Amino acid sequence: MEDCIFCKIINGEIPSRKVYEDDTFYAFEDIAPVAPVHVLVIPKKHVKSIAALTEADGDVAGKMLFALRTVAEKLGLAEDGYRVVFNTGEKAGQTVHHMHAHILGGKEMAWPGV
Ligand code: AMP
Repeated sequence: MEDCIFCKIINGEIPSRKVYEDDTFYAFEDIAPVAPVHVLVIPKKHVKSIAALTEADGDVAGKMLFALRTVAEKLGLAEDGYRVVFNTGEKAGQTVHHMHAHILGGKEMAWPGV
């Protein structure tokens, strides 16, 4: 989608540090990490957020948890654990309106963390 920074990352117009890619998803390091490991996983199809998902996005939604697991394993986080965050909408602090999951790891994390 025009003017979407994550769409531009997917098509290479904006550089990124890729950690994983398949036909449906792209994963890259967050530019402003808040944990020792901070990677974003995004669908290649432009979907604004979880709130904007429709039945037509069922394939993406269904596969995304598996993609998150694959990326976390690739990052070496599977054994120690990691956190997955989907900021959704304004009050949750979503700043990029292309659905994305943050994978956070590499440190002890407190919970609740809101
Ligand atoms: P959110 O606040 O949940 O919408 O998260 C958006 C995330 O995208 C933030 O953690 C930003 O640091 C990250 N981000 C924004 N632009 C880039 C970029 N060009 N490359 C990598 N990460 C980015």
